[in-house]
Amino acid sequence: MSAQPILVAKNVNKRYGKFVALAGVDLALQPGERRALIGPNGAGKSTFISILGGQQAGGPGSSVYFDGRDISGAPPHRIARMGIGRTFQISRTFRRLSVLENMQSALLASEGGALGLSAARLAALRDPAMQVVEEVGLAASAEHAVDDLSHGDRKRLEFGMVLATKPKLFLLDEPTAGMGLSERSELMEMMVRHTTQREITLLFVEHDIDIVFRFADRITVMARGKVFAEGSPAEIASHAAVQEIYLGTGH
Ligand code: ADP
Ligand code: MG
Repeated sequence: MSAQPILVAKNVNKRYGKFVALAGVDLALQPGERRALIGPNGAGKSTFISILGGQQAGGPGSSVYFDGRDISGAPPHRIARMGIGRTFQISRTFRRLSVLENMQSALLASEGGALGLSAARLAALRDPAMQVVEEVGLAASAEHAVDDLSHGDRKRLEFGMVLATKPKLFLLDEPTAGMGLSERSELMEMMVRHTTQREITLLFVEHDIDIVFRFADRITVMARGKVFAEGSPAEIASHAAVQEIYLGTGH
């Protein structure tokens, strides 16, 4: 590998009381790669993602470098501003506002202008906001209130609102949870298309193994708070122990 990794996590650990949720996770992402993070429930995937995003702090000795800078323990707004974007399972949209208004507010916030909300500035953001709304497949719902959107369309909006902030690394923790098979694959296809076009590095947690193998260039398998295996989809597919613990028929 020639490029410098965009993200390096070293010895990321986390305890909840006596319970060890993460027992020293190392992970490096190359710029532009699409990495899937998989593993059984309780493996520590969400905990790890939330430490990368700054929603939780890692335990002593954990370190995370992004774009060559130490971001260990940095607050989430700073990490977001540095270029790590993520969506949340709990919706962060304004539910009574329209899709387009939400996108305008996301653009405004990414300019750092959330408090100086002027009508003129909002109006100027209408066209760029509409462009993102179209890109995520919501043009027909642009004037609809978020409250009236389907679950899948809300996911599209949330993704678009983060995309509008121009992240360098996008974290997606089970973005397709709670969706049917075809909607799931369409949503993932849309998200991967946009991150790939913009050369955004992607780290996604996903249970649907077909989606994992279709969209990841590399896969990290976690179990019990540790990285259990890492490799190309072909390597992971043929990894006997991975098949047993995760992909196996007995799962
Ligand atoms: P995954 O996303 O891989 O399913 P999580 O990172 O959500 O796993 O959780 C890893 C382990 O840590 C689980 O056993 C979970 O119950 C535990 N855990 C997660 N968050 C907390 C918390 N706030 N307090 C106590 N235990 C937690
Ligand atoms: Mg999880």
